[in-house]
Amino acid sequence: MSDTPENIVSYKFHNIDVSKCKRCEAFSCEEACFRGIYEVLNKDSEPVCTVVEEREDHCIKCHICTTACKLRAITID
Ligand code: SF4
Ligand code: SF4
Repeated sequence: MSDTPENIVSYKFHNIDVSKCKRCEAFSCEEACFRGIYEVLNKDSEPVCTVVEEREDHCIKCHICTTACKLRAITID
């Protein structure tokens, strides 16, 4: 699995390597973020983490999510 830029889905300041989400089983991002920024879709098939766009500005950049995601799929600018 590579970290090529085409795997990265970028929002305003959240960037998610969705190639890593595909093999995720924990979905820790959703639970970790108390601001409800993340929603993981397709949990039963090919998981992909998404940022709820209207909530993105509620992020306080606490980095709990980047730590919680053991696959290190999340970066925050
Ligand atoms: S961001 Fe991390 S925890 Fe969330 S679905 Fe992707 S790999 Fe899993
Ligand atoms: S940095 Fe904190 S507030 Fe922002 S998305 Fe991650 S857990 Fe949520």
